[in-house]
Amino acid sequence: MDKNKKKELKQKYDEEQKMTFVATLPFSSMLFESLFDYLDEILGEHGCDDTLKYTIKFLEDNELPIDESLNWLRDNGVFCDCEVLANIEDKISEI
Ligand SMILES: [Zn+2]
Repeated sequence: MDKNKKKELKQKYDEEQKMTFVATLPFSSMLFESLFDYLDEILGEHGCDDTLKYTIKFLEDNELPIDESLNWLRDNGVFCDCEVLANIEDKISEI
């Protein structure tokens, strides 16, 4: 396999991974951006207490599906508010 072909396949693979990721999102990437801003601000003030309480509050305030969203976050390695920023923010901003 030549180099260009390999690169092409890698790009295709990355693209598919991204599409799969996007397809699983429990709500829109725009809302995720709002969640990041919200958490940035509130965690800057109060810090993370190793729960998802601010994330849950955001979900409630925006009438988003809580169980589905929390399951999705756990599947993506998020178990507290600061991990939303640490583990998800980069992935979403890459979309
Ligand atoms: Zn935390």
